[in-house]
Amino acid sequence: MKKNVYVFGNSHADGSAENKNILGGKGANLAEMTQIGIPVPPGFTISTDVCNYFIKNKSYPKNFKDEIQEGLLFIEKNLGRNFGDKKNPLLVSVRSGARQSMPGMMETVLNIGLTQKTIPGLIKQSGNARFVYDSYRRLITMYSDVVMEKSNSNINSNQTSIREHLENILENFKSQKSINNDTELSKNDLEEICILYKNKINDFLGIKFPDDPYEQLLGGISAVFKSWNGKRAIKYRKIENIPNDWGTAVNIQAMVFGNMGESSATGVAFTRNPATGKNQLYGEWMLNAQGEDVVAGIRTPNPLNESSKTKKSKKLKTLEEYNPIIYAELMEYRQKLETHYKDMQDIEFTIENNKLWMLQTRTGKRNGAAAIRIAMDLYDSRMITIDEAILRVSPNQLDEIMHPMINPESEKQSTIIASGLPAGPGGGCGQIVFTADDAENWSKTGKKVILVRTETSPEDVHGMHVSEAILTARGGMTSHAALVARGWGKCCIVGCKDLNINVKEKTITINDKIYKEGNWISLNGSSGNVYEGNLDLINPNLDQNKHYKKLMELTDKVKKLRIRTNVDSPEDAKQARIFGAEGIGLCRTEHMFFNPERIINIQKMILAETKEGRQKALNKLLPFQKADFKGILSEMSPYPVTIRLLDPPLHEFINLNSEQIGKLVNELKVSKKNIKDRIESLNESNPMLGHRGCRLGISYPEITKMQATAIFEATGELAIEGINSFPEIMIPLVGNAKELLHQRNIIKKIAIKTQKHMQVKFEYHIGTMIELPRACMTAHEIADYADFFSFGTNDLTQMTYGYSRDDINGFLPLYINNKIIHIDPFQTLDQIGVGELIAEGINRGRNKKSNLKIGVCGEHGGDPKSIAFFNKVGMDYISCSPYRIPIARLAAGHAELLQKL
Ligand code: PEP
Ligand code: MG
Repeated sequence: MKKNVYVFGNSHADGSAENKNILGGKGANLAEMTQIGIPVPPGFTISTDVCNYFIKNKSYPKNFKDEIQEGLLFIEKNLGRNFGDKKNPLLVSVRSGARQSMPGMMETVLNIGLTQKTIPGLIKQSGNARFVYDSYRRLITMYSDVVMEKSNSNINSNQTSIREHLENILENFKSQKSINNDTELSKNDLEEICILYKNKINDFLGIKFPDDPYEQLLGGISAVFKSWNGKRAIKYRKIENIPNDWGTAVNIQAMVFGNMGESSATGVAFTRNPATGKNQLYGEWMLNAQGEDVVAGIRTPNPLNESSKTKKSKKLKTLEEYNPIIYAELMEYRQKLETHYKDMQDIEFTIENNKLWMLQTRTGKRNGAAAIRIAMDLYDSRMITIDEAILRVSPNQLDEIMHPMINPESEKQSTIIASGLPAGPGGGCGQIVFTADDAENWSKTGKKVILVRTETSPEDVHGMHVSEAILTARGGMTSHAALVARGWGKCCIVGCKDLNINVKEKTITINDKIYKEGNWISLNGSSGNVYEGNLDLINPNLDQNKHYKKLMELTDKVKKLRIRTNVDSPEDAKQARIFGAEGIGLCRTEHMFFNPERIINIQKMILAETKEGRQKALNKLLPFQKADFKGILSEMSPYPVTIRLLDPPLHEFINLNSEQIGKLVNELKVSKKNIKDRIESLNESNPMLGHRGCRLGISYPEITKMQATAIFEATGELAIEGINSFPEIMIPLVGNAKELLHQRNIIKKIAIKTQKHMQVKFEYHIGTMIELPRACMTAHEIADYADFFSFGTNDLTQMTYGYSRDDINGFLPLYINNKIIHIDPFQTLDQIGVGELIAEGINRGRNKKSNLKIGVCGEHGGDPKSIAFFNKVGMDYISCSPYRIPIARLAAGHAELLQKL
């Protein structure tokens, strides 16, 4: 016969943590704690199979009630109290407990077993009649709400519920007697309230409150099972992807009371500090109270020990001082639990008449800093292996220790005024400015600013750089603002549709409220939330964090993927090396042209009508490029540096105002009309599909020649200086092998010429970006001319889906709400579509050339889920912005370990 009921108590348990599927998380942990000799109030768990049977058949399996009887008998024997007994009654709690925690989604009933017959017995036993009537009042409230009303009917949400009726009775009673707090109610008051409650239930629900303990118990069990299919639980399962057929277990456990007087108490604790990870018990307790009183916030809970003291509780007595014997026992269980579970635990306990009972244990939630410290400390004390230690920290948790964060406490107390896409991590607080120039001017006077724009363009970079954070109304996760901010590790929110920006008036309207220039706002770039005011920031201190350094050291031992970075300046290259970069995977050369001295020469080059004119402008750019490349190559030496030749649509450089046109008229000695006509002729309907990538280098080979010369002269000079550098020249947006061949021939000639001219030898590679579906499908042809492939997953996603990478936010929320797609594909790689093209591209490429080096340099290179995929398909490296490097390192470690598992 199938076993439906599993007992636990007094060092014996039928089940263990291995039976989590049938006992649920809570039941399994109660059994496990009992097995290792920790005092848990005895009880039994009804299996999840019974839940499924009950839901299907609306009845219980055969012999189920006998098994419940046996379970009760087990508790009675262990505790010496009997269920329904008039002298020494046993009360029980009935609680849900699914395989995966579903906090607050299902029902609980406490104090079951209190009846007219058992009340006098409990009064005698406890010597505290007020406590007994208070417990009875709590039972009537919970039971009538959960069992008699919610589980038996479909209540109309407009109608007053029985719980509200009972709460009204209590409030009226208190106001008639001028009582403020529940704690001031006397035994007689509570007894009277219980009678009023029961009358109301009879009138309102038309049924009597049950006075039979078994009826109460079965009612409680059925209600918990039914709550598995309650609205809240169904919704939660959908969000968390929990299957409907798991069902919930039900735990029946002897009640122990922390509110029996001065030798009783209740408390909650973490076995280590969840905010810092320090190896110290951290928690609070309350004398003469029940669990719900601790969370209700009516009284300030006392600290458990010195290290748990807060500003508010620093003068209150610790448990260590109040009852050192019980505290020592608690410390013993803390040790036992950690040794057993090999992780920090979140525990609940109750002291009933100087006897300590442990009510619950589960893995404790912790922040990033604590997660790292706990994992490293457990590894150092040989409690867990290297692999376990690495897997204990989730890669995204590293974000929390790398950037200033908004203090969660001050965030909790503030209201969100707008939300957008979390494009750049961490927090930022500052005064609103609307232009890049204002940002720069204000910051020069020492002000902290947040640059608010509809969207940003390369012209805004100087203002973006000095801002604490950037907020844009438009744009997706790979928009200009997002890419630039992420590269600097700067807080940024994009696609914040709630903003109505009026640049002329210098105001933003959000839900009818107007914010002016100079008003303070705070951004949480990790969640995408915007707040009013100047919230508290917590600053990181990575250099001093020895636990972080150790974690990275261990991770590097297991990961296979190499981690490169996307940077385009020597300063950023330096920062990237500090974070552990093993080379540059993408240096976007167009980012190097946006300072005023350079941009004018690019503009001249584009607008030039003759080859000579173009060459003249390019000659001016050569020294700048060479100096940049030299700086970057030497900062990265001896690691490889992938330099991508010019990529953006031409018109991005010639989006000119009349002042800029005037300047060019003077420089080029041509008419204004002439310039305007040329600009007009370069305008494209679909710039993303237009004159960009290698199409530029093919139309204007002199650009390729100039860039190759700058790279090779920089490499040659470094070689002469004894600095070993390794450039990899990358051709963008290739969709046809001939395009690559065309550019490769030009570059090779320049290399030969430069080496001859400088009388120096150096190594270099020529490869291509794979960012078009056709490039994936013809990778075998492209491989003939490529030393390496780098997948540009930003464009590859754009070109595969046909979604504009800049405007996806116009319909993305709708698509996500309608479950058409479940995540932004520019953030996390679409493995079945875009991923399939990547896998095909790798296969075709490596079949032709087995030593082809393959990496990725789209934004997905910093996304842990996508990194797992890149590891699986056998890439050699991933490349991401500097501030994502630690996350990518850890994610690459996880990917390899999980793949092995
Ligand atoms: C890409 O397309 O993935 C890429 C890295 O290039 P960019 O973002 O500069 O177009
Ligand atoms: Mg691209």
